[in-house]
Amino acid sequence: TIHLANRVETLTPSTTLAITAKAKELKAQGMDVIGLGAGEPDFNTPSNIIEAAYRSMNEGKTKYTPAGGLPELKQAIVTKLKNDQGLEYAPSEIIVGNGAKHILYTLFQVLLNPKDEVIIPTPYWVSYPEQVKLAEGVPVFVEGKEQQDFKITPEQLEKAITPNTKAFILNSPSNPTGMLYTKDELTALGEICLKHQVLIVSDEIYEKLIYGDNTHTTIAEISQELKEITILINGVSKSHSMTGWRIGYAAGDKKLIAAMTDLASHSTSNPTTTSQFGAIEAYNGPQTAVETMKTAFEERLNIIYPKLISIPGVKCKKPQGAFYLFPNVKEAATLTGYESVDQFVAGLLEEALVAVVPGSGFGSPDNIRLSYATSLENLEEAIKRIHTFVQNKT
Ligand code: PLP
Repeated sequence: TIHLANRVETLTPSTTLAITAKAKELKAQGMDVIGLGAGEPDFNTPSNIIEAAYRSMNEGKTKYTPAGGLPELKQAIVTKLKNDQGLEYAPSEIIVGNGAKHILYTLFQVLLNPKDEVIIPTPYWVSYPEQVKLAEGVPVFVEGKEQQDFKITPEQLEKAITPNTKAFILNSPSNPTGMLYTKDELTALGEICLKHQVLIVSDEIYEKLIYGDNTHTTIAEISQELKEITILINGVSKSHSMTGWRIGYAAGDKKLIAAMTDLASHSTSNPTTTSQFGAIEAYNGPQTAVETMKTAFEERLNIIYPKLISIPGVKCKKPQGAFYLFPNVKEAATLTGYESVDQFVAGLLEEALVAVVPGSGFGSPDNIRLSYATSLENLEEAIKRIHTFVQNKT
């Protein structure tokens, strides 16, 4: 028998992936399942990016690169941060890794000692607490209440800070809620972090997907002081529909970046070379596809949102970014005779053949997450099925 390490004892597998697996199983049995679980754009990677990667391979650029990424890619990221967000970083303040997820993993490994606390607002992206625990840190949850648009207040943040607090994770726009912090809100949260010298981990992976009149503010652009205590996380997965390429990066304090790079030199050696050449083109090439994809997501959102909230017992804040809806379906679950939203989700999959992710995995058990990174046709049919399911059982 194999005895696993203690550190994986409390590891919870990703709920997002579990529902996808169950949906696939039903599909394999010939059922017409609509999956709204996906966390990735449904578009192909723009062809200029694919071609640049292909060209680099033909030119023999298929060898190891520096552990923290190619200098040309770091430079492309430096330029992107300057042009898009007005942020000045040196290449030594950038590390490229195998996706933002892996960058975050590496960050917590070099940052946390046992019992160090990391403040995570709920609802949260499923991997944050697990990654903190894997680094022997302690996740401390602060409730982003639905009536507060799922956002936390500076008072809540300050109350959660202890002498052991090392970092605070900010994810705006948020997966799963799609909510966006305003500049004023970020300024107020930032003041608390400055006062207590708490590192801000700003996950901006959905930065390019912002809808309506909303704009994205990065907390690092508010002041030099805030920039110094922020580590910014981003990547090409969601912006350029490159989830499978596995390229993400961090920008921040040189010492932190150097430690992360040293760790990467012993774990990954480098992010996949070909993917890095694709990412260089993603940042340096034309950005038209980014805009086209964003427009498509926004159109879908505007069509399905009113239909979603017309379902009995379903309440939903309109998302401002990302590609998820996070409705509260507690009442719908009760109306249809389910004891919990988890059971409602299971019923929905088995009887209505619609796969959604239960909010429990995001620390918000009354909600479900629907991804609109799928065709409008699928979305309309899925919403119709959910509506019928609720109506027929009520
Ligand atoms: N952060 C958030 C909030 C996400 O939703 C995701 C992907 O689902 C990531 C980070 C990781 O992205 P990747 O590892 O593909 O760069």
